[in-house]
Amino acid sequence: MTMDLGTPPILTPDEAERAVLLAAPRGYCAGVDRAVITVEKALDLYGAPVYVRKQIVHNKHVVADLESRGAVFVEELTEVPEGATVVFSAHGVSPDVHRQAERRGLKTIDATCPLVTKVHHEAKRFAHEDYDILLIGHAGHEEVEGTAGEAPGHIQLVQSPEDVAAITVRDPAKVAWLSQTTLSVDETMETVAAIRARFPQLLDPPSDDICYATQNRQLAVKEIARDSDLVIVVGSGNSSNSVRLVEVALEAGARAAHRVDDASEIDEAWLVGVRRVSVTSGASVPEELVQGVLAFLAEHGFPDATAVHSAEESLIFALPPELRRDLRAAQQG
Ligand code: SF4
Repeated sequence: MTMDLGTPPILTPDEAERAVLLAAPRGYCAGVDRAVITVEKALDLYGAPVYVRKQIVHNKHVVADLESRGAVFVEELTEVPEGATVVFSAHGVSPDVHRQAERRGLKTIDATCPLVTKVHHEAKRFAHEDYDILLIGHAGHEEVEGTAGEAPGHIQLVQSPEDVAAITVRDPAKVAWLSQTTLSVDETMETVAAIRARFPQLLDPPSDDICYATQNRQLAVKEIARDSDLVIVVGSGNSSNSVRLVEVALEAGARAAHRVDDASEIDEAWLVGVRRVSVTSGASVPEELVQGVLAFLAEHGFPDATAVHSAEESLIFALPPELRRDLRAAQQG
């Protein structure tokens, strides 16, 4: 007689064997911090409503919080009443958008991250020197639209190494590349290598376009993902750098990695049989959402989180000059 023993049960590791690792750095970068404070101060100074073109940063909790205080998020400037105040998001806008705002008599506050502005300057300079510019990035992302708008006759988008074969340029000796600030460092370097194989005289940007915050968060998640059964990345689905953190975690060896907007999106089934959970967050994520995830884990038998530090960050950006000027005037008046 044979006996069906069925599927062996998944063993739940003892509590003593369980660990939570917390990436450091994680969460807010200097550009996001500046953009969120810009909208808060604009609301204090000018009163509601303050219009914001596109999501100020790609996080639905941040947007909902600012909405509750009187910010009105619009997709296009045609939705903003003439003469009103509008803030441009951290991802940057093209010169066309600035011109449109001027035509409508809008008061503008530009919260574009200075590291995105730096890429805009590089695009203008390469275009001025008549290079064909290959912009590595994702089609439809606001940052890519803003950067491409700086030199529309010179820039073409390259999304992956597979795109490289189809590129046509005017002069193979005058080709430069730039990138979106929030890409995977490793994937971007693969794309650059493919471009360079076709155009050996390819000109590099003067400094890294992938920003310090994106790079640091990818390094940090690699550190903790390697031996993890599960990596939880806190961040919204339209946040490029958050989505990249999931990919980087899996490439680094995590057995599973999931992105969640907050603790309510964690599936308890992910924790079955898990010993080590690692947690990180994208550059537009408030720390309270990470603390919510840690509280959820503690309630489910993963009590203590250990921070793993891989880089220190101290960068702070000054608020946009037009806002500083109005704040100063208000103080003096
Ligand atoms: Fe600026 Fe980088 Fe933050 Fe984007 S992720 S806002 S480029 S610091």
